[in-house]
Amino acid sequence: MIPNATLSTPTLPDPAPPLVRIAGLHKSFGALDVLKGIDLDVRPGEKVSIIGPSGSGKTTMLRCVNFIERPTRGQIHIDGELLGQKRVGEALVDVDDRTLARQRAGIGMVFQRFNLFPHLSVLRNVTVGPIKVGRVPAAEAEARALDLLDKVGLASKRDSYPEQLSGGQQQRVAIARALAMRPKLMLFDEATSALDPELVGEVLGVMAGLAAEGMTMMIVTHEMQFAEDVSDRVVFMDGGVVVEEGPPARLFHAPEHPRTRAFLSAVL
Ligand code: ADP
Repeated sequence: MIPNATLSTPTLPDPAPPLVRIAGLHKSFGALDVLKGIDLDVRPGEKVSIIGPSGSGKTTMLRCVNFIERPTRGQIHIDGELLGQKRVGEALVDVDDRTLARQRAGIGMVFQRFNLFPHLSVLRNVTVGPIKVGRVPAAEAEARALDLLDKVGLASKRDSYPEQLSGGQQQRVAIARALAMRPKLMLFDEATSALDPELVGEVLGVMAGLAAEGMTMMIVTHEMQFAEDVSDRVVFMDGGVVVEEGPPARLFHAPEHPRTRAFLSAVL
């Protein structure tokens, strides 16, 4: 008789380990418990949209993923490395500022408000991070910035100042600025919510281009059609938890949870 062990299925190679691993994430502000235990993995190259009602904790979750907000409990690993904290014996303590800056340099974030430096030209906005944080030589940072400005369609605006640009143009500069740090992960926090409707498309177009190039993206958005078109997976949050997640076709067209159904019927 053949021993059972020899009949076992050969071990398949591990699928790519997650680029982002969110485990048991809790976040409170004083007595307000905003995140109540989030577990979420994002694989390399995956685009994950996060949708849900206002106040459900989407932005807070995204801000924890680059440690703008410090988790109250739980951990975030980026590319296998614990973010913002290290183990000392049994305890978790904060890493030093330099380590956190290095970890954050791999994570680009685009905010609802464009947050450009108003006193710097478009070109300087894009080169300042690589030069100051990444220690990239100025000429190289400039060449990289010009490539990125070209990619977002704003090479001709290199010498303009933020106030001379439309909201959509400013947001495209903000995307170029984040990309200049060569991040392995891009976070978008309602990147088009502050824009006039006619300017939304140009920013979504840049984001779709980035998605097509294989960037790993976590996108908090109210643009449901965009989320459906671009995402590999959609996560529906409500009340500080992930209620349901799945491929966009299923989540948008055959949601399983009554809360997902109620939300979608209100917004679609
Ligand atoms: P969403 O992005 O889903 O709209 P948020 O993450 O922005 O939700 O907010 C979730 C809840 O956390 C809201 O009640 C909000 O008022 C609260 N909140 C967010 N940031 C802070 C903060 N810095 N201090 C206190 N409360 C906050």
